[in-house]
Amino acid sequence: MSATTSVAASEARRPQPTPDPDSQGFWDATASGELRICRCRECRTWMHPPQEVCPQCANEVSFEPVPGTGIVYSFIIVRHPAVEGFEVPYVIAVTELDGTDGIRLSTRLVDVDPERVWIGMPVRVRIVDHPGGDFRVPVFAPAE
Ligand SMILES: [Zn+2]
Repeated sequence: MSATTSVAASEARRPQPTPDPDSQGFWDATASGELRICRCRECRTWMHPPQEVCPQCANEVSFEPVPGTGIVYSFIIVRHPAVEGFEVPYVIAVTELDGTDGIRLSTRLVDVDPERVWIGMPVRVRIVDHPGGDFRVPVFAPAE
């Protein structure tokens, strides 16, 4: 088995997202290549994770597009292969999304040397195929 085949076989065993009625809109958006975040239709509060109704005013929510840029709010470098399907080391970051009044999304950083990630680093979303299933997921890479 070549190294490439081995990596592909490992990636195919990645844990998969498990959408529920609250998060389905998020996954529908990523399936079409967009990052959308849950927002109240009435008081305009952003929320993540998505909620069934607005926790502020109990009105309906919908998923609205966001710019897809932000900054690294916090991060860890994963060096131990605790989750199957990811080659270590890799970076899990909490990104603070532009245009959302401070909504933070836990995500993976790609195309960056883990030792060169810094708090406040500008990043931009990419919606990528998630091996092992039919999902597309948001990851972030350093912004130009
Ligand atoms: Zn509201």
